[in-house]
Amino acid sequence: MSGDGSQYVSQQILGAGLVIAIDGPSGAGKSTIARLSAAELGTNFLNTGAMYRALTWYALQQGTDLNDPSALAMLASSIPMQVEAVAHAPRVLIEGRDVTRFLHSQEVNSAVSQVSAVPGVREQMIARQRQIIQAAQASGRGIVAEGRDITTVVAPNADVKILLTASPEVREQRRARQSGAGSDAVA
Ligand code: C5P
Repeated sequence: MSGDGSQYVSQQILGAGLVIAIDGPSGAGKSTIARLSAAELGTNFLNTGAMYRALTWYALQQGTDLNDPSALAMLASSIPMQVEAVAHAPRVLIEGRDVTRFLHSQEVNSAVSQVSAVPGVREQMIARQRQIIQAAQASGRGIVAEGRDITTVVAPNADVKILLTASPEVREQRRARQSGAGSDAVA
């Protein structure tokens, strides 16, 4: 976005505390679009996948049994996680340590869907995501939030809801690039 049109839109959005929710399947480009839009509009940015990834990283560090849903739910309720929901340098801290660089490791990639499928984990993460969104709304700064359940579960009353998708080939290529795995493994 550039030129007068986008400046006009930015001015309308700044200070309005708008919530823009971007939903869609894996590899559709949600994070990229959400982060760039947030940077352009001057709002906060929330990557919900990063929260599930950080929890997964922490569970692996703690040696939590990934087959034990109550242990995972307990960890999700007590994890000392701080999400810096800013577009220019989004970070996740655990016990004050920046763990952002570990979030796309092979270990996390392999375990994150198992961890995030646990209902007790989702309940905790969704509650935290709603707090982050409400804080951005209340401050007037607004937020662009992305995730596969953001428009339906986390923020169904968002001011703007976007469903982003892409062809299976493009999604597969993007995921392969992100994970460093071959396209076959990603498919
Ligand atoms: O978007 P990303 O690939 O980083 O998300 C990592 C994983 O976290 C997803 O594959 C999915 O298993 C889980 N996730 C989820 N709900 C969300 C965001 C991510 O279950 N809102």
